[in-house]
Amino acid sequence: MIFKSINPFSQEVIAEHEVLTNAQLNHKLKLSENAFKDWKTTSFQQRADKMQRLAGILRENKEKLGLLITNEMGKIIAESIAEVEKSASNCDFYAEHAKEMLQDEYYSTPFKSMSVYDPMGAVFAIMPWNYPFWQVLRYAAPAIMAGNVTLLKHSSNVIGCAKAIESAFLEAGFPEGVFQQISIEIPQVESVIASNIVHGITLTGSEGAGSSVASLAGKHIKKTVMELGGSDAFIVLNDADLEKAAHVAAQSRMLNAGQACICAKRFIVTEKVADAFVSLFTQNIKALKQGNPVQEGIQMGPLARLDLAETLGDQLEKSLKQGAKLIVGGEWESCNFQPTLIDFVAVNSIAFQEETFGPLATVSRAKDENDAIAIANTHRYGLAAAIWTEDREHAYKLARKIEAGNVFVNSLVRSDSRVPFGGIKKSGYGRELGAVGIKEFMNMKSLVIE
Ligand code: NAP
Repeated sequence: MIFKSINPFSQEVIAEHEVLTNAQLNHKLKLSENAFKDWKTTSFQQRADKMQRLAGILRENKEKLGLLITNEMGKIIAESIAEVEKSASNCDFYAEHAKEMLQDEYYSTPFKSMSVYDPMGAVFAIMPWNYPFWQVLRYAAPAIMAGNVTLLKHSSNVIGCAKAIESAFLEAGFPEGVFQQISIEIPQVESVIASNIVHGITLTGSEGAGSSVASLAGKHIKKTVMELGGSDAFIVLNDADLEKAAHVAAQSRMLNAGQACICAKRFIVTEKVADAFVSLFTQNIKALKQGNPVQEGIQMGPLARLDLAETLGDQLEKSLKQGAKLIVGGEWESCNFQPTLIDFVAVNSIAFQEETFGPLATVSRAKDENDAIAIANTHRYGLAAAIWTEDREHAYKLARKIEAGNVFVNSLVRSDSRVPFGGIKKSGYGRELGAVGIKEFMNMKSLVIE
């Protein structure tokens, strides 16, 4: 069995990767087990030295690695290079802060009592293709700084990126087995979850994959973090700065050709300003230059795979039949899907109910602020949301009413190494990043000394 890397813009097969046999997989699990015995005993400083070297290697090779990302999944080259840089910064962040984040915590008792944080073993990560470097370094840098080791099952269309990350870890001096990529098929996943060396599983991906992996983890009693899909609301109220909101709306929906979990997907606008917002949003969308993602000046590339374009096309067609109005775009050929905006999208329509993973923006009109919040909260997902209003104090109160793991006011929703990130409802559970993220896969051991 072979995994193929296919350039989404040219449809050329650029590489083929062999799937591991079960014997090869068992060998890698053994390597993990052996590596953990030593790695858990290293000091924070020893780990930090290597993690900073890794950051340096990523930065030195950002053009080459960026091109690899673009060739495998179609993101525009500037976004690919920025992704490598952000991944490097995350390595630096945890190199610098892991020690203080994992300090012992003392309790007020008549005897000495505290919590200490011990690494657990191997973290098994199942990752998606949409940010093939960032998603990996987002979980791996904290896990490894904390003394864990890791096995990565990347998406089958970005195995080249998985191999490049593994090479960078080895070049940075991490011992063999601390970070391993494993090219495996889905039926092989359970044997990794069941393995005694694996104590935690982190999955970033779709709701379906999350449900399946969480079930297996439950069967084997293993801790999980689930970073799943989203259909983020972007709420525009009467007093919003419409020009700025429309500019960020286009950015938030169309970045990475619309293929981010935290892309704004449902634009919920109060009736009074809806026409003006739609007009400005349309101008911003029309100005986007779509084309070959390696060319400078291109702002949007193709979707990562043909099936993704087909799914999005189907969602669009069904939503138009359900009464939505096409404002701009709507055509696609191969993986190239025009940036598209539809208006008057009803709450029960497909484009509202399902996650749309591509450049399709939907506008739904709300009677007023309370209606807008109710429409936002009616969704099964709860990853992130944005609220646009000039009244910042009121925005704080509104933000508390939104059912999501992250709420941004007057800004693009984005992840940041310093700030915990994650979802609620069908968007998953657990947190990555910040001090909370690093503790997800630790044994918080209570220690009492009389
Ligand atoms: P996906 O199809 O769920 O794939 C993600 C990963 O899960 C891949 O490695 C995939 O392997 C694997 N996988 C799929 N089904 C599986 C199963 N039954 N058992 C075990 N592993 C399985 O998702 P995607 O299309 O790559 O990514 C898009 C989704 O990820 C969207 O829903 C998006 O919102 C979500 N996402 C969430 C976040 C977040 O932080 N919350 C971030 C990014 C993306 P194969 O490639 O071999 O199928």
